[in-house]
Amino acid sequence: MSILLVHSERFVEHEPPPGHPERPERAEVFDVVANRWRGRGADVIAPRSATREHLLRIHDADYVQKIADAAGKPARLDPDTFMSPESYEIALLAAGGTIDAVERVMNGPTRAAVALVRPPGHHAERARAMGFCLFNNIAIGAAHARAHGAGRVAIVDYDVHHGNATQHTFEPDPQVLYVSTHQYPFYPGTGAAGEIGRDAGRGFTVNLPLEAGAVAEDFHLVFSDVILPILRQFKPDLMMISAGFDAHEADPLGGLRLTADAFAAMTMELRQVAEECCRGRVVAVTEGGYDLHALAESLDAVVSTLDGPAGPARWPSSGIASTRGRASADQARKALGPFWKL
Ligand SMILES: [Zn+2]
Repeated sequence: MSILLVHSERFVEHEPPPGHPERPERAEVFDVVANRWRGRGADVIAPRSATREHLLRIHDADYVQKIADAAGKPARLDPDTFMSPESYEIALLAAGGTIDAVERVMNGPTRAAVALVRPPGHHAERARAMGFCLFNNIAIGAAHARAHGAGRVAIVDYDVHHGNATQHTFEPDPQVLYVSTHQYPFYPGTGAAGEIGRDAGRGFTVNLPLEAGAVAEDFHLVFSDVILPILRQFKPDLMMISAGFDAHEADPLGGLRLTADAFAAMTMELRQVAEECCRGRVVAVTEGGYDLHALAESLDAVVSTLDGPAGPARWPSSGIASTRGRASADQARKALGPFWKL
């Protein structure tokens, strides 16, 4: 069974003000990628709208009502998070499309799916819009997977920003493992290695903060030393990826130095774990990524990695000596050593 893409031409209708990096042209990149893969035999489906029940698994009722009430007119929700008249409907499609991807992968025979959605989600807190995000798409998808039979869900977030809201949602929950690589210190300020979850969820939040300038070799090291051993011990029933591409070297917001090949390598490492633990079940959901060419190239690399045969990850060589990965892995190992064999 080939890969499933969730796609709609309507994602262009969420329109932050001119000059905003999370711009409608990003949806045109999704159109190009979806059309290319449809031509190669991929299954492409239109997203449903998330229901109130889906949203309330993650967000407060008052907050959901506030966003619904803002529909039909422009609104500014925080210093960099905006709504246009259609944004509420489009945000429901972004969350609903993630649910579609989860259902298709959990029910089979689809093995892997990519939800090409915007606005992104991982900064949207329980009761607060933040960082271009209205509803937390991946958290809503993970909660849906848990409600439909997935015992353990792993979320790996390789967006350049820490997914504060995904971490906060699941930090007391040992059934949902949250793993993030991100530039640090950086927006939104969370994601130190010492943030490891709380209560029963201690050890199930895994942060790999990386100093600006980190390259593929740094990511390779934190994957090998920390992320992959923890994922293999956790043994997820579903692997989810917060697939942001703003850690690309061309991104105008981020200060990390990855290429499309590095996104492919990370995705292949995660797919390999999924092949071992859960019959290859992977759901990737788009987050950030603000250079349109880098977004197109990186998305294509990820879809290609999930669609083709499984095999060893091919990490690119940046040729740059960097100790940022070592510093990050050492901090994470110190914080998480009591909980995992590392
Ligand atoms: Zn981001």
